[in-house]
Amino acid sequence: SVTFCDVVKRYGDRPVLKGVSLSITPGEVVAILGPSGSGKSTLIRLINQLETLTSGEILIDGKPTRQLSRRALRQLRSRVGFVFQQFNLYAHLTARQNITLALEQVHGWSSAQAQTRAGALLSQVGMADKADQYPDTLSGGQQQRVAIARALASSPQIVLFDEPTSALDPEMIGEVLLVMKALAHSGITMIVVTHEMQFAREIADRVVFIDEGQILEVAPPEQFFQHPAHPRARRFLQKVL
Ligand code: ATP
Ligand code: MG
Repeated sequence: SVTFCDVVKRYGDRPVLKGVSLSITPGEVVAILGPSGSGKSTLIRLINQLETLTSGEILIDGKPTRQLSRRALRQLRSRVGFVFQQFNLYAHLTARQNITLALEQVHGWSSAQAQTRAGALLSQVGMADKADQYPDTLSGGQQQRVAIARALASSPQIVLFDEPTSALDPEMIGEVLLVMKALAHSGITMIVVTHEMQFAREIADRVVFIDEGQILEVAPPEQFFQHPAHPRARRFLQKVL
């Protein structure tokens, strides 16, 4: 589970999250929607401490996550995967090596174990036949599928996605969403910042609408898309649908 308790994030004087409280239960798929600059990326980056919070608290499985030792932070990051908009694969490593690297160097797996795990993960995302290719020989959709496989390498219970399809050509969005859809049914907790309204509608258990650093609405997708309660949510949907 992930619990935000009155989380505030400021950059300098500038408040970016203004007291966010939210509880996400194990296995839940949550879509984070909101206008550009509303604080969506900041919200999920705080969970695995790509950013540090200003005040408040984030609990993972009931445990506080402030001021962790390096070891505890590494543990947290192995339980919480992250998929970036721009894939962030290592250019000098093959698809397979992108996955085995952390398993061997951070988690101390043997090369043989890591290879086996990487193979299984690449199959899971439909990339087994491209395991030995370098990122620049893969399409955007293929790179993102490798990045998802990499995020899953340490068997995280939670995976965070920050607009995983928005850097992709339209014809490649579907293949990535399909992988995410399968993952959503696997029981893993997913928190997905997305502009794919259809995906949010089909896959999310709940939609969280955020604007100007505040959560304005949390609702099941049917309710959110058909009867958004907050005027700013209505305005947002009119623009994007
Ligand atoms: P988008 O949909 O464009 O990705 P977002 O909802 O993800 O937007 P954030 O990236 O979380 O928004 O940013 C929220 C606000 O915080 C923005 O106004 C942004 O300019 C500001 N911000 C983000 N990162 C920093 C930073 N490192 N330093 C200063 N301000 C920042
Ligand atoms: Mg963002």
